[in-house]
Amino acid sequence: INTIGVLTSGGDAPGMNAAIRAVVREAIAKGKKVKGIKRGYAGLLQEEIVDMEAKDVSDIIQRGGTILQTARCMEFKTPEGQQRAAEICKKHGIDGIIVIGGDGSFRGAQKLAALGINTIGLPGTIDLDIACTEYTIGFDTAVNTAMEAIDKVRDTSTSHERCSIIEVMGRGAGYIALWCGIANGAEDILLPEKYDYDEQKIVNHIIENRKRGKQHHIIVNAEGIGHSASMAKRIEAATGVETRATILGHMQRGGSPTCKDRVYASTMGALAVDLLCEGKSNRVVGYRHGDFVDDDIDAALAMQKCIPEYQYQISKNLSM
Ligand code: ADP
Repeated sequence: INTIGVLTSGGDAPGMNAAIRAVVREAIAKGKKVKGIKRGYAGLLQEEIVDMEAKDVSDIIQRGGTILQTARCMEFKTPEGQQRAAEICKKHGIDGIIVIGGDGSFRGAQKLAALGINTIGLPGTIDLDIACTEYTIGFDTAVNTAMEAIDKVRDTSTSHERCSIIEVMGRGAGYIALWCGIANGAEDILLPEKYDYDEQKIVNHIIENRKRGKQHHIIVNAEGIGHSASMAKRIEAATGVETRATILGHMQRGGSPTCKDRVYASTMGALAVDLLCEGKSNRVVGYRHGDFVDDDIDAALAMQKCIPEYQYQISKNLSM
């Protein structure tokens, strides 16, 4: 490997900059050249490729977003697009690529690997919905941002004796909702993996809690369930308790990364470079049982992940 390309793809996540910085500096330390590819696979196909030096990544470890920008790209999903992308890599002397993104981005990396470009994936998503890893870049910052926001909603919810439905991000995955639900002491946590769509149970729960003197009722609703505003109207009508919906939205994707996101993203970025230097390809970096690991992308994409059952069960007891 002589020249390593790095790109961010799919949804952005805090800590991606820390990963980019680590890739650039570890590669330079190992005597390699680095090229930054702007706007994910879209920028690769448009040849938006820039040389990166150590100084180009100074003052970014603490910044949210991604200095390389990110995009979704339909053309890259076609065999012709993938072929052209591999040719562009060869034209620019890029013999290894580090792709920071989610499962979709890894499927793209897999295709490039099959076309002779060495690829390593880094799990970058606030959703934590990547099966081969217990940690994804950005999750820690996102849950902390959401937790602080929910604390604030809770203050006013208690003052006004309201019920609050707070919708957090996570597409089809309930990890942010579960973590915030526990961290914020939510009365109900609605996860796409678990929710039975029986609103009557929630209504009964609110009425029981009122009788027991609870002044607020926080419902953390995962994005994958959605419809928080209409749910609030129905719950208010059924309980007589004023109910408001707050959708936290994209604020969860931004902000300065936490210490954990900076340290883990830096470690993963450096490890991706080291794997390429060892001649590895078609691998994805993860974190399991206290270690940074790497798996074959095909095997990683075939893995399944479940919401931790014990934590979900106890969350109900703890919000009694
Ligand atoms: P994420 O990486 O966060 O899961 P997406 O699923 O949107 O985000 O994927 C990001 C990009 O990766 C897509 O816009 C596309 O260019 C590429 N991609 C996704 N799925 C595939 C696939 N099956 N084959 C090739 N490229 C893919």
